Amino acid sequence: MTDRLPGFSTLAVHAGAQPDPTTGARATPIYQTTSFVFNDADHAASLFGLQAFGNIYTRIGNPTNAVLEERVAALEGGTAALAVASGHAAQLVVLQQLMRPGDEIIAARKLYGGSINQFTHAFKAFGWNVAWADPDDIASFEHAVTPHTKAIFIESIANPSGSITDIEAIAAVARKAGVPLIVDNTLASPYLIKPIDHGADIVVHSLTKFLGGHGNSLGGIIVDAGTFDWAKDNKYPMLSEPRPEYHGIKLQETFGNFAFAIACRVLGLRDLGPALSPFNAFMILTGIETLPLRMQKHCDNAKAVAEFLSTHAAVSAVNYAGLPGDKYNSLQRKYAPKGAGAVFTFSLKGGYDAGVNLVSNLKLFSHLANVGDTRSLVIHPASTTHSQLDDAAKVKSGAAPDVVRLSIGIEDKEDLFADLDQALNA
Ligand SMILES: *Cc1c(COP(=O)(O)O)cnc(C)c1O
Repeated sequence: MTDRLPGFSTLAVHAGAQPDPTTGARATPIYQTTSFVFNDADHAASLFGLQAFGNIYTRIGNPTNAVLEERVAALEGGTAALAVASGHAAQLVVLQQLMRPGDEIIAARKLYGGSINQFTHAFKAFGWNVAWADPDDIASFEHAVTPHTKAIFIESIANPSGSITDIEAIAAVARKAGVPLIVDNTLASPYLIKPIDHGADIVVHSLTKFLGGHGNSLGGIIVDAGTFDWAKDNKYPMLSEPRPEYHGIKLQETFGNFAFAIACRVLGLRDLGPALSPFNAFMILTGIETLPLRMQKHCDNAKAVAEFLSTHAAVSAVNYAGLPGDKYNSLQRKYAPKGAGAVFTFSLKGGYDAGVNLVSNLKLFSHLANVGDTRSLVIHPASTTHSQLDDAAKVKSGAAPDVVRLSIGIEDKEDLFADLDQALNA
């Protein structure tokens, strides 16, 4: 073994981790401590002044979390990453570095329902405005650009619809507008899509989903691609102007191609506070070790279930980008050739009531508001995650009244067919 670059499965197991220098522990230990002892007063001062890297306090950084950060940065091909308490915390911390009251973000209309809420209500209260664009109509992003635009936000594979986004086309719009492209890569995971290879400047994840993968721990992460020039035009003062709380240093000047990750840590996480528990970091790291195996099985099962449903008498339509006739099939073959993910929707001939009945009759599928678990999951978005939207907005976000969302697990596919069949016929 020489200077070969490690492959994805090797990185999923090893990136960022060393045997523990003190004990030799091979699995990454859970450093369940709030604080870290300084070597001496000078060491303490240099840590606080950002002149040296090291551990201070777990709200700002923790050695277990650091392994997770290095691992996901490696899997995504970024320069650095910052782990936080949830996917929503990641979105908040990213935008806090970019946005000031009166600024705008352009967001794809097809987003996770919780993100639509966060952008529409919580961010609005900060004076951050959102302009919605249609990911199937690239010109709608171009038309939404104004002098106040500070970022564009999309999902690589959209939740709940499972549609595939043309990342490169939207990255070109962002580049022309001089703003970063933020890609929520939760549903794809870097096993299926690496948005940085397609022009993303920042990648965010809900680690709660496929990366953790077992439905047992919340987490979020921000990956810095190291591609964006934050000092250009002084558009991003958090990164380009002297920071009074750090003796006047300029983050972009000092930290170069990982300045954004540093800003998220030392300005965002430090001041907003959504730190990830080291225990959750450990659980998620353990999940990531099997990401390539799980993700392939998720995709293979999902394709088989989509094929099964598309021939079922109670089903009017199946929207799975992995099916040859699907509207997103050519984008899937370009961006996610290993598989179209495991989250998709289908429509029932019986409408809203049939959706409610189906979720009540399924036995192996769990009816709950999550995706990316080893277990198969089901939800009826119109009566749950997207219930707060009006009918037109439900349809636009892929959550019409007759639509059911599945997140296919890693069980035996024949058992999934049987459960769906009995519930659809009930
Ligand atoms: C779940 C989810 C989020 C939010 O993540 P949390 O960890 O629940 O805060 C964001 N984006 C997508 C696509 C999601 O599925």
